[in-house]
Amino acid sequence: MNRTEHFRLPSVDEILRSPESEALAAQYGRFPVTRAVRGVLDVLRERRQPNVDVALIASLAAEHLDSEDRPSQRPVINLTGTVLHTNLGRALLPKEAVDAVVSAMQSPTNLEYDIGSGKRGERDSHVRGLIRELTGAEDALIVNNNAAAVLLVLNTFAKGKEAVVSRGELIEIGGAFRMPDIMMRAGAKLREVGTTNRTHLKDYSEAISDRTGLLMKVHTSNYLVQGFTAEVEAPEIAHLAREHDIPFVDDLGSGTLIDLARYGLRHEKTVQDALQGGADLVTFSGDKMLGGPQAGIVAGRKDLIARLAKNPLKRALRMDKLRLAALEATLKLYRDPDRLHERLPTLRLFTRPAAEMRAQAERLVPCIAEQIGMDFDVAAIDCASQIGSGALPLETMASGGIAMRPRGKASGRAVEDLAARFRALPVPVIGRVSDGALIFDLRCLADEAAFATMLPALASRTRNGAS
Ligand SMILES: *Cc1c(COP(=O)(O)O)cnc(C)c1O
Repeated sequence: MNRTEHFRLPSVDEILRSPESEALAAQYGRFPVTRAVRGVLDVLRERRQPNVDVALIASLAAEHLDSEDRPSQRPVINLTGTVLHTNLGRALLPKEAVDAVVSAMQSPTNLEYDIGSGKRGERDSHVRGLIRELTGAEDALIVNNNAAAVLLVLNTFAKGKEAVVSRGELIEIGGAFRMPDIMMRAGAKLREVGTTNRTHLKDYSEAISDRTGLLMKVHTSNYLVQGFTAEVEAPEIAHLAREHDIPFVDDLGSGTLIDLARYGLRHEKTVQDALQGGADLVTFSGDKMLGGPQAGIVAGRKDLIARLAKNPLKRALRMDKLRLAALEATLKLYRDPDRLHERLPTLRLFTRPAAEMRAQAERLVPCIAEQIGMDFDVAAIDCASQIGSGALPLETMASGGIAMRPRGKASGRAVEDLAARFRALPVPVIGRVSDGALIFDLRCLADEAAFATMLPALASRTRNGAS
């Protein structure tokens, strides 16, 4: 005890007996409060802070308990202009899927149980029929995500063999998903054909030997090779594969199940297109354009799906009951394409008319200017949203937004500081910094009123920083 005449801390007991601590204990429990109080005392003792009373310690403990209690993963407002933002959790689930998840998580289900026969059932059976119905595939199989689907396919058909892929399609999709790495981990030897910009059918045919496990086409989701290019269309590769009795796999990445042109978007190759084009297996994600939960779906030939199902890796990569429930409910919405754009949040966001976001911007500009207008020019702007997650990389959708640009000769940090202040709001607001301004694209702003109500909290974050 290192006491001096200027420095004395109350005892833990004394603090815990205070009415403030009693109130905290009622909320958080005795044990966490004791731990928080001890933590606060340690800090104050280290700082040798004078004139500390019980009330101050209790309020510091309350702050600590409050921040500790806040979920680490929490809602944010996505104003980045990228609708399917991988870092922000991709597709939002339709209400039907949310209800299905809640129901499945609160009760036992017939996940792997056949109610008719009373015998063991199969978890993929809950969505297999729907995928067949919607895509025309003979059969389907579900795993954790599309990376897992690709891994399973390669491991099943090309382990110890060669997987033939065009050099122009050896993609990296953000973070750690690199096609060549997945191939290696799957035990497949990568056989690159063609060059970065041009690949011809004869490049594929010359690569085929008795070591070939499969031919694969990978959707170059997140970039476009332009200029002097040549790519072999899937039907030609499919034809070649059939001649040699080798499986042809089309990795679509984003799973589109309907013609997007009917909603005013550009047509993207659908799963049906790929299957009709001769792919033996098609792999795609559940939480990209499809608008459902994270999932990896393999659709195609029954005999090949059966081999995938027998691979022990399937067990390690399988889907859980919650996401299967969400996927089933999401897929059912596709039976009614006329109302899909109202019921599927992903499609609803894609088809929001720009005028709506522009009107929102006009309404919100004065509210934001009121809080930060001394230091920033705040203006409504036209902007362009992206689909994201690598789908249709060059396709943008006209949108409306807000630009916040530092006035006069502000430091380069001013915009970053402003972005941090928005992120420090009770529901963090995530925009993007572009060309010296903070930009909010309003396409994904669901609750305008809640957003506006939160803005006055920006002021309190002006001086004391934003962390
Ligand atoms: C996104 C993507 C993947 C990975 O899918 P996840 O569901 O994110 O695992 C694989 N291949 C392509 C072409 C993709 O676009």
